[in-house]
Amino acid sequence: MKRNLEIVPRYNTRCDAKYFHKLDKILANEFGAVDTRNCDNPTDALIRGILSQNTNDRNRDRAFSALKSKIPDWNDVLDTDDEIILKLIRPAGMAYQRCARIKGLLRWLAENNNGEIDAKFLLDLKPQKALDKLIDVDGIGIKTAAVFLLFCGDAPFFPVDTHIKRIMVRLGVFAPKTPAEKMIPILSDIVPPKLHKRFHLNLLKLGRQICGARNPKCDICPFKNSKICKKIGIDTK
Ligand code: SF4
Repeated sequence: MKRNLEIVPRYNTRCDAKYFHKLDKILANEFGAVDTRNCDNPTDALIRGILSQNTNDRNRDRAFSALKSKIPDWNDVLDTDDEIILKLIRPAGMAYQRCARIKGLLRWLAENNNGEIDAKFLLDLKPQKALDKLIDVDGIGIKTAAVFLLFCGDAPFFPVDTHIKRIMVRLGVFAPKTPAEKMIPILSDIVPPKLHKRFHLNLLKLGRQICGARNPKCDICPFKNSKICKKIGIDTK
């Protein structure tokens, strides 16, 4: 994956592929080895990605279900008044911004895919090209693009959200305050590709259930061995 060479984040070079294999094994023992996420429809997955930014899965799902059940065809969303869409996606919050971004994405898909609103064509491109194209679309950041390409297209990207960013800092992999988008290219290169999905999903579980932003439950953490976690017991973001 291409890296921005101008600003290289501080990264602990001892955290190599072997290290991530070890972490993955520990998490798989704790949380299981699930490595799939629903991606029946790539366009749906991208819209879900826009709806999931800065909200929780429940609110995202409520907004997506309301939108999809009322307007099942994405072509019709473009012809629907913003007021109607705003009402439907309100559970996710930031409805004005999301409405503009959803319509912008649908227009972009039509313009880049011979008039057809279908994100599947992106999965036929080389992964880096697809990522570069996607992050040019308003509202699609590198994390949303990486999640989409990993789970819908098996692309070798490792998405980093706020939970994974926090855990990576606590483990001492990255320096504090390293932005998630700077972690993505580095982890995409170093975490073995066959682990990307499972390790990503299990880190999310760890972040949600144990290593929360406040009061991490280090006593029940599978990484409680202090040789693995540098921040054991420290309540810090
Ligand atoms: S030991 Fe504590 S700080 Fe470290 S990963 Fe586990 S819960 Fe987070």
